Amino acid sequence: MSREITKSPKGIAAASAGASQAPALDFGRAWDYAPALEGVSHIKLQPRYGLFIGGAFRAPRSDKYFATVNPSNEQVLSEVAEANAADVDDAVRAARLAYEKYWSKMRGAERAKYLFRIARALQEKARDFAIVETMDGGKPIKESRDFDVPMAAAHFFYHAGWADKLDYAFQGRRARPLGVAGQIIPWNFPLLMAAWKIAPALACGNTVVLKPAETTPLTALLLAQLIEEAELPPGVVNIITGAGETGAALVNHADVNKIAFTGSTEVGKRIQASLAGTGKRLTLELGGKAANVVFADAPMDQAVEGIINGIYFNQGHVCCAGSRLLVEESAHDTLVRRLRDRIATMRVGDPLDKNTDVGAINSKMQLDRIRELVDAGEREGATRYSAPCALPSKGYWFAPTFFTGVAQSSRIAREEIFGPVLSVLTFRTPDEALEKANNTMYGLSAGVWTDKGAKIFWMAERLKAGVVWGNTFNKFDPSSPFGGYKESGFGREGGRQGLAAYVELDG
Ligand code: NAP
Ligand code: MG
Repeated sequence: MSREITKSPKGIAAASAGASQAPALDFGRAWDYAPALEGVSHIKLQPRYGLFIGGAFRAPRSDKYFATVNPSNEQVLSEVAEANAADVDDAVRAARLAYEKYWSKMRGAERAKYLFRIARALQEKARDFAIVETMDGGKPIKESRDFDVPMAAAHFFYHAGWADKLDYAFQGRRARPLGVAGQIIPWNFPLLMAAWKIAPALACGNTVVLKPAETTPLTALLLAQLIEEAELPPGVVNIITGAGETGAALVNHADVNKIAFTGSTEVGKRIQASLAGTGKRLTLELGGKAANVVFADAPMDQAVEGIINGIYFNQGHVCCAGSRLLVEESAHDTLVRRLRDRIATMRVGDPLDKNTDVGAINSKMQLDRIRELVDAGEREGATRYSAPCALPSKGYWFAPTFFTGVAQSSRIAREEIFGPVLSVLTFRTPDEALEKANNTMYGLSAGVWTDKGAKIFWMAERLKAGVVWGNTFNKFDPSSPFGGYKESGFGREGGRQGLAAYVELDG
């Protein structure tokens, strides 16, 4: 039987067997996957969650609760407690007591056992955590399943390994814990950010009070349940839900020794100002506007995938997203054409479908912000291209989009959009690429794509960014420190450098 290569309407080449005998295949439809929904019937969320303080859940003193919704369909998933200042005070007291009574006295090897226990329990319950992360935050199940949850477990495993080796981490200096750490996290990687915060703090002998974001509290509460089951001494980890005021009460509590904050630059600045002169330790992981620099000699297929991953991963809700594409002028047209073809194939829709590439925007507020900046991009004269996909009628959605003809001065080149929106700019020489890449108030991450290793090293030395990826993007490992320069914050999370944020060094 003869085989012929047929071009599909989308320009995808495919082999069709004996066209005269078999009905012609519609490659447009053949390219679509059947829905593959993750089963959720076994997920039993409580209608209401209290605060996890002193090793048990309890009602908030405020008597107030707020709803957390699924952003892909606007359905209320559960109600969670809104901690007020008195609740924050209870949580800090519980953490202080646990620090003095148990945790600061425990040998590192014993602390490690608890961290290993949490890590293993997370692996055992990985599927449930992934599903709830996707329901509460809107990210595709393949990301929560393959990235967020395994990385969260990896952070507990990694830091468990350090707990009894702190004497070797700082070249002969003795490391002492700080005391009570107040930790505040955003909504883009709810479980993973909780792991980034809790694991190093506990490994170093501190106790914690953690506040998840208002729109994504559920996996932190599931983590609290898991911590209860792991029988950590009561009060070592306290998880309190609430809004910005709850976070501010934690920041300003007199008996907290350290604040670790991940979130917007605006709130980070406010926190830094309110802590000035208090002697409390502070680390800030803030916003970003990363340059992804593509030279004409780059491996283009890989670069396209890296750009896609860099900006459309997690709907662009990524502080280190490669949101500014700097492409060498001679490669611009080819690259833009390929990007356009590639984003047309991305699947936007139900985050619980295993085929979905781009899920829901986390909240109405975030969607409004993305729209506002995209409108500004159009008004400022850039050319917009959005993938031609049908968006669900319920929930918060934004099609993968990029802008060409973007001026450096325009808002979409300067401000963090925190959505699936890429701004494309051009350069002619490595110096110009560098100058444009560094022309931002942020400095969290950057990417360089080229065939020449020397060019990657030349750029990496000069880019003012905490992380520089060479011929790849958005790769993480618990042993690799992550953090920013300039208005992206200070301090590192992960690696030996990340431990330093949770210890006092003698000698
Ligand atoms: P956000 O408004 O700064 O909120 C972050 C966290 O701080 C949330 O838990 C929030 O509570 C809380 N908060 C709000 N106001 C506060 C205050 N006055 N004092 C103490 N805590 C307060 O940021 P977001 O909109 O949730 O997150 C998006 C931003 O985070 C982006 O700018 C992104 O770049 C940044 N981010 C950075 C990193 C990094 O590693 N550098 C990682 C992820 C995200 P509510 O949720 O209740 O408002
Ligand atoms: Mg939610």
